[in-house]
Parts: sequence; C-alpha cells; structure tokens
Amino acid sequence: MCGSNAGQSAGYVAAARELGTTLAKHGIGLVYGGADIGLMGALADATADANGEVIGVITPDLAQRDGHPNIRLEQVQTMHQRKQRFAELSDAYIALPGGLGTLEELFEAATWNQLGIQDKPLGLLNVNRYFNGLLTFLHHAVEEGFIHREHVDAIAIGSDAEELLSALAHWHSPNATKRGG
Ligand code: AMP
Repeated sequence: MCGSNAGQSAGYVAAARELGTTLAKHGIGLVYGGADIGLMGALADATADANGEVIGVITPDLAQRDGHPNIRLEQVQTMHQRKQRFAELSDAYIALPGGLGTLEELFEAATWNQLGIQDKPLGLLNVNRYFNGLLTFLHHAVEEGFIHREHVDAIAIGSDAEELLSALAHWHSPNATKRGG
C-alpha cells in the first residue's frame, strides 16, 4: 500500500526503491495496485529491476489511465474485488507513505486482522517519520478506549526496509496472544 503520488521529498521515492530492491534480495514477491505512477511505480520498478516477482491487481479504468506497461497485471472489476484479491495473494502488508487510498487499505487490513478475518503481519515503512502523527493519534484512540492497545502494538514499524522486514519476520499476532491468555 503506497502513494499514487511521489511526495515532496526525494527521500520517499528512494525509500520505495530501496524496499523493492530489498524485497527482491530476500526473494519476497510484491503484490501491489498495478499503477506506474508515484511511489507505486517506483516500488514496482525497483522490485522488477532487481528480478523480484511483481503482480499488479487493477481495475480496467485504472489500468487504462495509469496501468504499468511492464508489469504482470491481473484485472478485477471493482475496487472491492481488488482489495479482496490483495488479501488472497499477500502473506503480509506494508504501508509506505501515501494518501487516502493508502490509509484506507492500511486500516482495512488492520481491521480484518482485528476481527480475525485474517491474521497477517502488517507494518509501516516510516520514511521521514511520515506516520508519526498517525501513530500519535492511534495511541490517543487507545487512551480514549476505542482501540485495544495490542492492535496498535501489532503494527510493525521500520524506518528503513531491512528494519521493517526484520520486524515483520518477528511479528506476533495479537489474536494469538489473546488466545494464549
Ligand atoms: P493514494 O494513497 O491516495 O495515493 O492511493 C494509493 C492507493 O490507492 C494505492 O495503494 C492504490 O491501491 C490505490 N490507487 C490510487 N490511485 C491509483 C491509481 N491511479 N492507479 C492504481 N491504484 C491507485
């Protein structure tokens, strides 16, 4: 999950590219939204450049507008089917900096984990401390009694790709903790 924009600072594109290279180095395939723009395109290009596997899942409308010409694209009819397909194809989620679309996907994945619909590692690539304000808000929601702390603590955080992949590799499901007492 990441921005269809590139962000103001060049550090965002650099971090997206670094994540792509690191995924490929570890033999981890990328499932993403299929566009060739913004951080999405940078991440897909870097993964493919490093011979990593990349699958883009996209609707016909978006494919026509922004579809990546050099990536294997799988078409679905609606945005809801698209997120369902992301969930089917992915073993873990990473959110890079992004806007409304990124946040919507991040919170859907976190909510599905919370509900036990799935139980998949989820992490933030906190480039330039982009997500700090969001994390502050999530801790506020915990303090105010709207989110259980374990569901915020279960969001892995890394300021660079290696740190985040390591955190995801050591991820513990909050549901397993609950079940185990
Ligand atoms: P945003 O964070 O608002 O830039 O939106 C990025 C997220 O929404 C991505 O993860 C995509 O799944 C989806 N998205 C938004 N715009 C596009 C686009 N032009 N092409 C493909 N997917 C997009």
